[in-house]
Amino acid sequence: MKQGRLIVISGPSGTGKGSIIKKVMERWPAAEFSISMTTRGKREGEEHGVHYYFATREEFEATIEDGGFLEWADVFGNYYGTPKAPVEKRLAEGADIILDIDIQGAMNVRKAMPGAVLIFILPPSIKELRRRLEHRGTDAQDVIEKRLAKALTEIGTAREYDYVVVNDDLDVAAEQVLSIVQASHLEVDETIEETIRRYEEE
Ligand code: 5GP
Repeated sequence: MKQGRLIVISGPSGTGKGSIIKKVMERWPAAEFSISMTTRGKREGEEHGVHYYFATREEFEATIEDGGFLEWADVFGNYYGTPKAPVEKRLAEGADIILDIDIQGAMNVRKAMPGAVLIFILPPSIKELRRRLEHRGTDAQDVIEKRLAKALTEIGTAREYDYVVVNDDLDVAAEQVLSIVQASHLEVDETIEETIRRYEEE
């Protein structure tokens, strides 16, 4: 069985990563979302086991100790981490796994799994990003300012990624991410030897 692809999606908060991922998953049934563990509080409309596994700092630190994370990071003073076992299991079973994680996490995934495909989502502009964060209404003004300042420093790290997608129009951005996922399946990988042998034996 061919391994699935590990797709890592990052970008400043408010760039619409979540909406893009949702659309890609509707169009690509082989894709599954990796549910992270976090110590941040639940936002309205979020469900445990759907958006995140909400945990205490003690639970999170115990999982770090157990080596249970593929990667983890401290983002805005809260822990976020990708549970390792389910990702490895589903990749081995051929599923594509999508991670929505920050830049530190993406760089650590790159080290742990060099075959991962890293996609950076950009907002059309900083002005538009501010408008979206304010419109979302989930954060206090000081948090929005913090997120915007972080966005500015984060955008410079786009150069570390394999692909950059600008989320101006959601449908177009989702279509572009889907194309990247599809193309990643056509990359030459370790299965090429078997493919060549099959042709040679014919
Ligand atoms: P939010 O609190 O808005 O849901 O997420 C804040 C940031 O944490 C986002 O940039 C998101 O991509 C990132 N994040 C979510 N889950 C993980 C994770 O498991 N690992 C890392 N490194 N970052 C994560």
